[in-house]
Amino acid sequence: MDNALLERLETVREAIARACREAGRPEDAVALVAVSKTHDGEAILPVLEAGQRIFGENKVQEAKAKWPALRERFDDIELRLIGPLQSNKAGEAVALFDVIESVDREKIARELAKEMTKQGRRPRLYVQVNTGEEEQKAGIATTEAVDFVARCRDEHGLQIEGLMCIPPADDKPGPHFALLEKIAREAGVAKLSMGMSGDYEIAIGFGATSVRVGSAIFGARDYG
Ligand SMILES: *Cc1c(COP(=O)(O)O)cnc(C)c1O
Repeated sequence: MDNALLERLETVREAIARACREAGRPEDAVALVAVSKTHDGEAILPVLEAGQRIFGENKVQEAKAKWPALRERFDDIELRLIGPLQSNKAGEAVALFDVIESVDREKIARELAKEMTKQGRRPRLYVQVNTGEEEQKAGIATTEAVDFVARCRDEHGLQIEGLMCIPPADDKPGPHFALLEKIAREAGVAKLSMGMSGDYEIAIGFGATSVRVGSAIFGARDYG
């Protein structure tokens, strides 16, 4: 069982390296974020032992329940929040995560700034952009993203490292990745978190600097 897991991890690593080569980018230009949501510490451990250090979780409470114990065994883990953040969880998120990829509104920016000052911790930040303008999806509107990045900096003292998007499930992802890249350029932001199990190789062709891969590594999720 572990063997299948490690084979999948290796396959993903190789596919990332190949996509980088094909895009004429250095093989280390793209960071792999292993999305471990719904999987417990026991499932995550072999992936840590195989050298993977960057992980993504979409819920603050779930991450809080499993990562402190894993961090006692591996002190160089980088944990990323990739799911929507409620403002009343901003404090816990700042305490737990090294990167928060889901900054998408003024209130969150304000709460994060307050907590970062209070705790003296500065997780790196990404703004999530709703490239498909989907009503049910988190993320700032494409037309507001550049201004929002500037306001994070000028009004809240928050440096934004990159942008993140989740294209609509039924769309071709390429145009969404291209749009995110264009907005990032306009906003003066360097990093692009885009691409999941089904489309991370495509995202690398459009300039992704990190890809968030869950099921292609851990297998299908069981939400119970
Ligand atoms: C779950 C999730 C992923 C990983 O999805 P897979 O299709 O399993 O690779 C990536 N990004 C976000 C924001 C997610 O919630």
